[in-house]
Amino acid sequence: VRHLLTIGAFARAARLSPKALRLYDELGLLRPAAVDSDSGYRFYDPDQLEQARLIAWLRRLGMPLAGIRRIGALPAPEQAVEIAAYWEQVLAETAERGRLAAFLVDHLSGRGSTMDDDTTLRIRYAARSETGPVRETNEDTAYAGPRLIAVADGVRGLGGDRASAAAVGALKPLETAPIPADDLLGALAEAVRDAQQAIGAIPGDTGQGPATTLTALLRSGSRLALAHIGDTRAYRLRDGELSLITHDHTYVRSLVEQGRLTEDEAATHPQRSLLVRALTGTGDANPDLSLHEAAAGDRYLLCSDGLAAAVPADELRTVLAGHRDPRAALDELIARAYAAGADDNVAAAVADITV
Ligand code: MN
Repeated sequence: VRHLLTIGAFARAARLSPKALRLYDELGLLRPAAVDSDSGYRFYDPDQLEQARLIAWLRRLGMPLAGIRRIGALPAPEQAVEIAAYWEQVLAETAERGRLAAFLVDHLSGRGSTMDDDTTLRIRYAARSETGPVRETNEDTAYAGPRLIAVADGVRGLGGDRASAAAVGALKPLETAPIPADDLLGALAEAVRDAQQAIGAIPGDTGQGPATTLTALLRSGSRLALAHIGDTRAYRLRDGELSLITHDHTYVRSLVEQGRLTEDEAATHPQRSLLVRALTGTGDANPDLSLHEAAAGDRYLLCSDGLAAAVPADELRTVLAGHRDPRAALDELIARAYAAGADDNVAAAVADITV
C-alpha cells in the first residue's frame, strides 16, 4: 500500500501552504492522489513533491497558468526547453517595455529630441501584396498612406485572408482621425484593439478563430509609433545601414536567442513560421508597442515573412539603398523574393521620410 501524505504534511514537505495546494487543485495544476469521499480531505503521494515544487517555481517566474499546465505534462528535457523559451519571451517583452519607459521618461522630463515634433517632414510611400506563383490564395495585406503603413500576414486555414484585411482595415481610420502628437502610441494601441474586435467579428469556420500577424507604423511629424505582433517585420534604412526594429514572435527565434539554433538553421527550420504570438479576436495577445524618432532620409520597410525568408538582409539593404523611388525599390524586392523561389505570399510597404 502506497503511503499518502495529508495536505498539511505534504505542504510542509513542499514548503508550500495548504491554501496554495488547494488553489493548484482548483486550477487543475496538481490534483491530489486521493480525496476522502466523506470528509473531502486531500491526500498526496510523496512522488508529487517534485511537481509541486516546480509549479511553485514557475508561479514565482510569473508564468501564466496555461503555460504551467502545458509544462507539467512534459518530460524534463522538454520542460527545460519550454522554460528557456518562456524566459526569452519575457526578456524580449521587458526590453520592449524598457524602451517605452525610457521614451516616456525623456518625454516627460522635456529632454531629448523627442520633444521636437518636426512637422516639416514629408513621406513618400508604396505598398504591394502578391499571391505569388505557388499559393492559391493571398493571406497577406499591405497598406501605405500619408500617416500609416501596415503589413499583416493571416494565419493559413484560419480565415487568415479576412483576418489580415480586417486588422489593416481597422487601422485605416487613423489616416484621418485627429490624433494629438503626444498620444500617437495610445491611438495606435487603441486601433489595434479595434483590429482584435474586427477579427473577433469574422464568422469562423473552424474551432480556432482567425488570426494574423500585424506590423504597423503611425507617423506624426518625426514621431513614429510602432505596433507589432507575429513575424511580419519592420526595418529601418538609415545612413546606408539596415536595422531590424521588430522582434519575431516565433518559436525558432526563441531557440536562436537561447543559442540552440544558428541563424542558418533557423532559416530552414521546418517550424520556422510557428508563431508564439498573433493577433486574434480574443484580445489576449498584446502587441509590442514602441516609439521611434524618424530622421530625414530614413527609409522604412515593413514586410511579411514571404519576403524576409526569401531575401537575405544584406540584399534587402542593397535593393533599398539602390532606388530613389519607394515603388521601384518595392517592386524589385518582390521580384527578387520570387526569383529566389519564395513559395509564400509576399506583402511589403516602403516609406521614405523626406524634407
Ligand atoms: Mn507568410
